Amino acid sequence: GGPGGRATPRLTREIPGLRVDHGVPSFAAHTPRFSSLCTSLVARNALQCCSSAGSLTFGQLKADGTFEAEDAAAAPRRYCAPEGKGMSTLCEALLRGDDETKLAYTTLSTMVSKVEASASEPPQWRLTSKSGTDLGTFDWLVISSTGIAHPRWRSTFGGEPPLVQAALSLNDPALDSALVALAPLTAKPVTAALLAYEGDAAAAWGSLPFYKAWVEDDPTLSRIVVQRISPTLTTVVLHSTHAFAESSAHVYGATSTAARLAGAKSDKGEEQRVLDAMLNAAENRLDGLLNTSIASIRSPAWGPHLHRWGSAFPDSPLLPEANAVVPSARVAFCGDFVEVGGAEGRGGSVEGAALSGLRLAQALKSQIEGVDALEL
Ligand SMILES: Cc1cc2nc3c(=O)[nH]c(=O)nc-3n(C[C@H](O)[C@H](O)[C@H](O)COP(=O)(O)OP(=O)(O)OC[C@H]3O[C@@H](n4cnc5c(N)ncnc54)[C@H](O)[C@@H]3O)c2cc1C
Repeated sequence: GGPGGRATPRLTREIPGLRVDHGVPSFAAHTPRFSSLCTSLVARNALQCCSSAGSLTFGQLKADGTFEAEDAAAAPRRYCAPEGKGMSTLCEALLRGDDETKLAYTTLSTMVSKVEASASEPPQWRLTSKSGTDLGTFDWLVISSTGIAHPRWRSTFGGEPPLVQAALSLNDPALDSALVALAPLTAKPVTAALLAYEGDAAAAWGSLPFYKAWVEDDPTLSRIVVQRISPTLTTVVLHSTHAFAESSAHVYGATSTAARLAGAKSDKGEEQRVLDAMLNAAENRLDGLLNTSIASIRSPAWGPHLHRWGSAFPDSPLLPEANAVVPSARVAFCGDFVEVGGAEGRGGSVEGAALSGLRLAQALKSQIEGVDALEL
């Protein structure tokens, strides 16, 4: 796998050229700082501004089955992957940097399952992979997910969360406070159904009047995303409501992270029941807009595949920004679960994650170089 997290597209060898943005399909920019970052990424062809692309319409699928496009003038600027690419293009560009000089070294597809602080002051951090490989020793430990620091680790993987374990011997009050502040964080799940259509069915789906539609008042579906890969290949992603995902919390897609990493069993019968419920809901809502006999909802060229995002969006509370950087322990947190002052309400979004990353970079730069943060 490559970089991207919840922005990683699903790829398959079964159909050449098929990629499905089954996590975040597009995102909004509300703040000037993030908007200007997006503008520079559009210039580097790492993003596409949906508003200027013309064909990428957003709106609502009303309860009566009609589609109402959003008022583009009142809506925030929206971005998605550049044509012909997946959402991870954004993350790849961030890692590559502006002038194509390598900004970061990466070790991909590797789960960190142990972190140890050295006895030196300040400490250094040694990371070990799930398979026991020494991943190196670092001056700062920057954590981009609640995982290794959250009590949920005990039920998912068993044993103490790695950072909680390390903190026991470190005895750093600021790190202990950060861990206390992080413990109550929770997340809301989304179940995604992934499908791809070819030929006439692809054209039928492609003629729907939207790229992404919020589904009004439906207990099962919250959003439908239609990506036109080519005139003869269209992908469709159905996102469930949080309530629906919670009601099927134990059902994992056969290829989900939980199934792979934690050995969670996928139950084929249950999986089919969940997919059926989501397809029924889509069929009902799209009845008046889609030529269902041509669109052959039930017989896609690929799928339907289920993907359960157990932690699709963080719920409140978020991690207070005051706990996000712990200089004494050389530990820092960034991501959409961290509160970003001045951008209230952007937690749980790509914008919130990016702003948190930018603010952390600023704080780390001033820690490491002693530069005046105001210069940045
Ligand atoms: C279905 C869905 C729809 C969404 N829709 C939208 C939307 O419309 N608009 C919007 O703005 N946002 C949306 N989001 C949310 C958006 O995807 C996230 O807010 C954003 O991607 C968060 O980025 P992040 O870097 O904070 O976290 P992530 O993308 O989750 O990155 C965290 C990374 O840390 C890695 N990691 C975690 N633990 C370990 C470990 N122990 N070892 C090694 N690596 C580890 C993970 O593998 C992952 O790569 C959606 C999300 C989902 C799932």
